[in-house]
Amino acid sequence: MITIDGSMGEGGGQIVRSSLALSIVTGRPVTIENVRARRKKPGLKRQHLTALRAAARISMASVAGDELGSSRFEFTPGQLTAGDYHFDIGTAGSTMLVLQTILPALIVADGPSRVTFEGGTHNPMAPPFDFLQKAYAPLVERMGPKIKLALVRPGFYPAGGGRVEMAITPEPKLGRLDLMTRGKIVDRRVRAIVSGLPRSIAERECLTATRKLDWPEHYGSVEIVDSLRGPGNVVFVEVRSKNVTEVFTGFGEKTKRAEQVAEDAARQTRRYLKAGVPVGEFLADQLLLPLGIGASLGSGGGQFRTLELSRHSKTHIDVLREFLDIDVTTEQSETDHWKVTVSPPRV
Ligand code: AMP
Repeated sequence: MITIDGSMGEGGGQIVRSSLALSIVTGRPVTIENVRARRKKPGLKRQHLTALRAAARISMASVAGDELGSSRFEFTPGQLTAGDYHFDIGTAGSTMLVLQTILPALIVADGPSRVTFEGGTHNPMAPPFDFLQKAYAPLVERMGPKIKLALVRPGFYPAGGGRVEMAITPEPKLGRLDLMTRGKIVDRRVRAIVSGLPRSIAERECLTATRKLDWPEHYGSVEIVDSLRGPGNVVFVEVRSKNVTEVFTGFGEKTKRAEQVAEDAARQTRRYLKAGVPVGEFLADQLLLPLGIGASLGSGGGQFRTLELSRHSKTHIDVLREFLDIDVTTEQSETDHWKVTVSPPRV
């Protein structure tokens, strides 16, 4: 039994989610203590509980301590089982975080899976659907599996009510991913999305983001979408380059001005473009998991260049090392310019 201290490093939900994925893939039982100890409301929230139960379903695991607010639980995985699944958060909690938990295991399963998620699809502090579809999934696909993601209906925080469908064709011999250069930029755009809110909010966001980025105004577009419940607003800045697509997000909130939402996304984009690296902050921490699993299988692993490693990334590397016999090296070459290498153990 591996014991993970949930208060290590950044001390949030990612430690829980990645530990679950790694426990399933390695077949090693895990106890997590001090769950999300560094968050304002520690313990298992609805979305973490759904992630835990989803992980248990796909691996026929036995679980102790899976209750709302729980600060300690034990997870003993059985057989990883591909198939058709449906997970409903029951609140506006992020479905994307549940997806992030089970995807790394299902891509190395022994058959295809189809999974439906219900709840929030565009939540602050979580990867939004568009990021997973355009930035994350295509890179994981380069390691061999096929991943189809469809947004049936968006669900914005705090109302939820969204629905996402995922279809996975696995590749049990996960291959390498090398992402050392971004390549030429082939497309840049700002998408401001509103649901149940005035169009003028999205128009102001397009104007602000394109100005802050010094891009022509026509790079911005407004999208009006229908969510089942509640209002919602999100701004995406998408940078499509030859070797990688990055998606930077500003989340609308009741107390936040539209200009500020757009500036958030533009600031992240400017930092990324200035650094000239292929992989942004969030993509870096999320790529570590499939790279680590690939390296531990002996077929995969890889390397990428990224911005200064976030606390999430550093903690994620520590979690990977607890479960997997792999080599992870990080090397800084300039300010905001790091190289990460994930390899099978040296013999
Ligand atoms: P935690 O705070 O530990 O629950 O982890 C949050 C996860 O959400 C991490 O994997 C982050 O990379 C991811 N995340 C947070 N914000 C964004 C964003 N704007 N775009 C993409 N991923 C995000």
